[in-house]
Amino acid sequence: MIRRWLGKVLGKPSSSSEPRIFPVTQHGIRRDSIHPCALKVTRTLKEGGYAAFVVGGAVRDLLLGREPKDFDIATDASPEDVRRLFRRSRLIGRRFQIVHVYCGPDTIEVTTFRAHTPQNDEESSRVTAEDGMLLRDNVFGSQHEDAARRDFTVNALYYDPEKEEVWDYHDGVADARKKVLRMIGDPTTRYREDPVRMLRVTRFAAKLDFHIAPDTRAPISSLAPMLERIPAARLFDEMMKLLLSGHAERGLHQLRAEGLHHGILPMLDAVLDDPGRKHFLHASLHDTDERIRHGQSASPAFMLACLLWFDLQTQWQKYRDSGLSEQQAMYEAMDDTLERQREMLAFPRRLDGTIKEIWSLQPRFEQRGGSRPYRLLDHPRFRAGYDFLTLRTRGEDAPAELSDWWDRFQDASEDERTAMLLPATVSATKRRRKRPRRKPGEASTPSENA
Ligand code: ATP
Ligand code: MG
Repeated sequence: MIRRWLGKVLGKPSSSSEPRIFPVTQHGIRRDSIHPCALKVTRTLKEGGYAAFVVGGAVRDLLLGREPKDFDIATDASPEDVRRLFRRSRLIGRRFQIVHVYCGPDTIEVTTFRAHTPQNDEESSRVTAEDGMLLRDNVFGSQHEDAARRDFTVNALYYDPEKEEVWDYHDGVADARKKVLRMIGDPTTRYREDPVRMLRVTRFAAKLDFHIAPDTRAPISSLAPMLERIPAARLFDEMMKLLLSGHAERGLHQLRAEGLHHGILPMLDAVLDDPGRKHFLHASLHDTDERIRHGQSASPAFMLACLLWFDLQTQWQKYRDSGLSEQQAMYEAMDDTLERQREMLAFPRRLDGTIKEIWSLQPRFEQRGGSRPYRLLDHPRFRAGYDFLTLRTRGEDAPAELSDWWDRFQDASEDERTAMLLPATVSATKRRRKRPRRKPGEASTPSENA
């Protein structure tokens, strides 16, 4: 208590077991920027005699003047204690035991302070694998231990809404001001414990526009292969967080810069190094980022369809060359592309249908005669297919004339539509004449061969 008081007076903790405590005049986080449910939960916990803080990403984001995605609470109450205090709550046992407290339509995650499991004592052999990966991490601890087991200094800040104080055990406030991501503890050890932290640091760097401290960045390239050991579902979740963060473009460049893409999204090399292909990926990522920043949704299937588009085309060409019909080659190529990708970043099979529809609609946009355009308009995935086509146009992967035609056709009157229809057989020939010259050996697009 005295040390804490001294820390307060001197503005300096004596060690990382004592926090530096910032008053509102220094951190600037206003109580009314905390979600009312989070306020209610901290108040109830405190009335029950427990410590309760808003923690993690919410404090970091508020400190940076950003809107938090969610509000997590950390407490010294056990999960059972928390359950008892909140009628509408549920214990969920994912990797760690946490309690979900429901409040209207919202859910607040309440976590009991956990200890960081040490690496070099006897205890560790029971909870870590030979390569240092944490297998279990559910040992309750004190608040300073809870701070030490978190990943980056800016993610280990605690906000007390009642006193309006920020408790900082690892100089996270200073790092936030310097816009730096710094691992708590020894970076190599911490990445070995949980290799997903390598993806997290990449994601946060992109999202917050922070740089990664040199010693936090250094071990990543050599430890990157450890990601292979991460369960498929967790890897997919983490990648989706990156792709749907509103900063996918920066995130993917960062991922590649750190060499983390190899076993996950290897197509990035081929796409980002090819000026022709780069435009398409740029257009699609930029579009997704814009949508998300404007509060619209973006679909994982659409993102994957974009990322894998050039892989699909290479496969499609291969099957056509082997003598299969256009359509048969497309089906084979779609299965091949998805399976090959799934060997690395496994994504749920429920996405396959949408991805395949988006792809297989592309050659159908070429067919602008007879009743075909009408049938395409009625297709349940027309919108996604058309959005994909416009991205291809912006990426110079499809002629602008084609997406212009569809743009007009959608809004045209019946008479105008009839006048717009191309004679079924002419459309392909006409287009062939307009086709841009391709470099030898470059994969052709489905549209050009439909
Ligand atoms: P976001 O804005 O993406 O939600 P976040 O920092 O809140 O960012 P979460 O995944 O919601 O990230 O995790 C909440 C907090 O839990 C983090 O801020 C961090 O303190 C801790 N944490 C999460 N994952 C890890 C991990 N793999 N290793 C160590 N600490 C972690
Ligand atoms: Mg969070």
